[in-house]
Amino acid sequence: MSSELRYDGKVAIITGAGNGLGRQHALMFAARGARVVVNDLGGGIHGEGKSSAAADKVVEEIRAAGGEAVANYDSVEDGDRIVQTALDAFGTLDIVVNNAGILRDSSFHKMTQADWDLIVRVHLHGAFRVSHAAWPILRDKGYGRIIMTTSAAGIYGNFGQANYSAAKLALVGLANTLAQEGRAKNIHVNTIAPIAGSRLTETVLPPELIAALKPEYVSPLLGWLCHEDCKESGSLFEVGAGYIGKLRWERSKGRSLPLGRPFSAEDVARHWAQIGDFTDAEHPGNINESMAPLLANMNSKSLGG
Ligand code: NAD
Repeated sequence: MSSELRYDGKVAIITGAGNGLGRQHALMFAARGARVVVNDLGGGIHGEGKSSAAADKVVEEIRAAGGEAVANYDSVEDGDRIVQTALDAFGTLDIVVNNAGILRDSSFHKMTQADWDLIVRVHLHGAFRVSHAAWPILRDKGYGRIIMTTSAAGIYGNFGQANYSAAKLALVGLANTLAQEGRAKNIHVNTIAPIAGSRLTETVLPPELIAALKPEYVSPLLGWLCHEDCKESGSLFEVGAGYIGKLRWERSKGRSLPLGRPFSAEDVARHWAQIGDFTDAEHPGNINESMAPLLANMNSKSLGG
């Protein structure tokens, strides 16, 4: 068996750590030696109300088990205050897990501006605010691990979750760019799309599934991704029920139309099957790789019709 992955000397912020997945992440990091900021606004699943009880309870659990933790009750929309709590309590910061979240589900035709704004504020602006406040600290020390929490609803879409899907997939874009900007400073940024029984999912999943989909099955992925030995960055994982898989973009080989003369919708229609044919598909991993067939077409005189 490999030796235990420890976080001694490391400071971790876990947002939304008063319940569900965040609580489990916080317990795991603390049990492995990290000093943890347990952030939670303590509101309801639709973003209503606030209370210190949720974060306090998890801090008590960590301390009772011999770990070190402090509570923070700010919204992730005030991310700088959460980072300040880490600095005040522990003097530094190494790991940020952007996990806090709520739902405001509604079919698109019934969705209000308020439903849209609140979800974007908590998920997207919240992760931005916390990560942005943490960024200069991580850059200065030349070390950092950041996790974004997206959702299958963001990756694949889900009926009644236009606001949530949009905000969640935006986090993947944020993580991909931060992974590139952070690389030279040893800041790794990855995204997880978890599935777990929690108060967010108990309204949509049957009780036996809620009981089986334990948050404990998600946290070990973070345990590895956030460890100093792990070199992974800019990646996206689906995780839950003991399954962990990595996602990447796939693009059909496609069809290049000859330049130097006009082409039309009819030409597109004529080549439609080839445009969508995933035989010999490609997996561009960055913008340069993505541009390769465009540049090749610009450089070729003619590919025929
Ligand atoms: P949960 O409701 O059990 O926990 C979320 C916590 O975030 C709550 O304690 C809540 O008080 C806190 N929170 C909400 N708004 C906050 C804010 N503005 N500032 C600080 N804290 C805030 O939910 P969960 O299922 O554990 O979800 C955790 C994350 O995982 C969320 O981002 C969610 O969208 C995502 N997710 C969960 C699932 C799942 O199957 N449970 C699936 C996909 C994505």
